[in-house]
Amino acid sequence: MNTPRFRQQALESVMNRAPKVVEMPTAKISEYFGSNVFNEDAMRMFLTEDAWFAVRQAIHQGSRIDRKLADQVASGMKEWAASKGATHYTHWFQPLTGTSAEKHDAFFEPIGGGRSIERFDGSMLVQQEPDASSFPNGGIRNTFEARGYTAWDPSSPAFIMGRTLCIPTIFISYTGEALDFKMPLLRAIKAVDEAATAVCQYFDKDVTKVTCTLGWEQEYFLIDEALYHARPDIMMTGRAMFGHLPAKGQQLEDHYFGSIPDRAVAFMRDFETEALKLGIPVKTRHNEVAPNQFECAPVFEELNLAVDHNMLLMDVMEKTARKHHFRVLFHEKPYAGVNGSGKHNNWSLATNTGKNLLRPAKTPKENMLFLAFFVNTIKAIHRHADVLRASIGSAGNDHRLGANEAPPAIISVFIGEHLSNLLDGLEKNIKGAMTPDRKTELKLDIGRIPSVMLDNTDRNRTSPFAFTGNKFEFRAVGSSANCAAAMTVLNTIVAHQLQAFKKSVDALIDKGTKKDEAVLRVLRDLIVESKAIRFEGNGYGEAWKQEAARRGLSNIADTPRALDVWERKETKELFASMGVLTAKELEARHEIELHNYVLKLQIEGRVCGDLAQNHIVPTAIAYQNRLLENVRGLREVLGAEKAKKAGATQVKLIEEISEHVNLIVSLVEEMTEARKKANAVEDTRKKAIAYCDEVKPFLDRIRYHSDKLELLVDDELWPLPKMRELMFTR
Ligand code: ADP
Ligand code: MG
Repeated sequence: MNTPRFRQQALESVMNRAPKVVEMPTAKISEYFGSNVFNEDAMRMFLTEDAWFAVRQAIHQGSRIDRKLADQVASGMKEWAASKGATHYTHWFQPLTGTSAEKHDAFFEPIGGGRSIERFDGSMLVQQEPDASSFPNGGIRNTFEARGYTAWDPSSPAFIMGRTLCIPTIFISYTGEALDFKMPLLRAIKAVDEAATAVCQYFDKDVTKVTCTLGWEQEYFLIDEALYHARPDIMMTGRAMFGHLPAKGQQLEDHYFGSIPDRAVAFMRDFETEALKLGIPVKTRHNEVAPNQFECAPVFEELNLAVDHNMLLMDVMEKTARKHHFRVLFHEKPYAGVNGSGKHNNWSLATNTGKNLLRPAKTPKENMLFLAFFVNTIKAIHRHADVLRASIGSAGNDHRLGANEAPPAIISVFIGEHLSNLLDGLEKNIKGAMTPDRKTELKLDIGRIPSVMLDNTDRNRTSPFAFTGNKFEFRAVGSSANCAAAMTVLNTIVAHQLQAFKKSVDALIDKGTKKDEAVLRVLRDLIVESKAIRFEGNGYGEAWKQEAARRGLSNIADTPRALDVWERKETKELFASMGVLTAKELEARHEIELHNYVLKLQIEGRVCGDLAQNHIVPTAIAYQNRLLENVRGLREVLGAEKAKKAGATQVKLIEEISEHVNLIVSLVEEMTEARKKANAVEDTRKKAIAYCDEVKPFLDRIRYHSDKLELLVDDELWPLPKMRELMFTR
């Protein structure tokens, strides 16, 4: 059991800590940005002409690199890595556990006679066979074929972490199924490229490639390591499962507007320097709304690279935090009652001609292109809202969605007043046959998107999916999530919708309708069909829940049920037809996500029971004993009659404490029974639902009584750092 002394010591050490002095590079950022990345400059220096060309083709055209050239690339990469002091290499991948994984091998190889060489060839670069049986596979790998492969992804450059050369890879089963986040993401990126390029061809023949762009915003909490270690719940689950809300929460919003605390700044500068060396273009840092909550955001990049950089940054942040006696909490809801953390995904599409397809333009012709992508994205969200909802489901995010200043679990799209009016106008005005005059007029309307749009002035922060001037911002993604999960789904549904759009337009053109008119007509239909998903009001309000229900929009509050959509026939067809995930891969993912959910709740259940029974109840009883002694003493000195009055408060406290203690003990017993029952359920979905419905409610109930005890028991005896201490001590 934590002793009260432990809590006091923790608080003291926090207060005595000075910001860590870090040596900062004296050079300008541009001089060390990307210095730990095998980037274009490094490749030009260390690769042969042929190898350099092959890698570039692979990056830009997705072409294969043959074995001989791979040997050359490997050799150059090894030279470069050695020049940076690297001794080991690893395939770096993103299994479905949610974090990144690596297994290091030395370059060094003994060659007999007591001598050795440094070896790293094409085969080691291109493919590895990690011991895959310890990664989640959702039943894809049967036991006698437990092998999995990692395979080089040349589109994301190799980098050096510490003294290890890291090679970004995909992770697949022996039979070729995706076991990671990257493989499906790359497939979705390809699908959207093909579908979007085909649509661009209506308007601009020069467009031959469309890439996705992502700018994520990473929110997180910082906690001092001494406090972290004094809170077993935060250590084990990433969130405070107990603790009465402090008198002051975030209502003053003074943290948001305040300057960043010195220790936090030192930490930020340190991890940002590491990040910049790794080529991660981190640019913005600021306080967030809740106390000790912060945000870091880079300049947007190509999607696959942006995802790798986010995973890498989370890793760098965790490592750097330890040097500063901090821990980073990426959990979506570390502290109930104040803001949780998200990872806003700013998403757009860009052409090889340098155009952002979601940027309204100045001419009607260009705005047809904008409108096509804008309206089709909205339609995709409308049609596949449930799939998008499932992509952000996790045990942690369940606490955040729909709570303090977080988007609700209802998916809707905000586009702002001006674009709403424009779409409403198009809906009304495109009717019947169009005279040439009418067409010109319409096109002029479209051309009148004013440039205020580009200033992001029209904002609604309560929407889960908002258009912010030249991109969509998906805000429901959880702070601990791999962005790839949400981005794979978003790009798949957009690709699917763009394909359907092209089919409809082509059908009209085949019947003799002119291209522009055909496009406008189909867009009009899409605007009408997708109207229900558009919402401009307050997404945090209770009224929206009712309105959304009237509109027939889903509001799925928990992860196990949100994930049901993976089983739907339409979902399987969607992902298979886009070449992103086979039915088998989808089923495996569903199984893994349910399993992860169960594991998280299992741990929470255990931690809750332990803390309640081994820390909280004994503390309450110790205090109760003191009170009992006091009452006995009063009787001895004053006599029974007088003591009755003098000890009335103590007796009442004794009774109250007994009540809460008894309730906690019986609730923990009931929860344990519920867990046993849930554990016995074979079917993973039913098990997850049992945890969600039968186990999870106990966590809140036990907390309620414990938090009451916290208010009754002498502060000196309380063993766990309190919420106010977690949030405000620095
Ligand atoms: P905020 O949402 O905090 O007010 P901004 O709207 O300026 O800030 O930008 C938020 C994020 O959007 C940044 O990470 C930025 O890189 C990203 N972003 C800007 N343009 C694009 C784009 N075309 N595609 C993807 N992300 C973008
Ligand atoms: Mg934002």
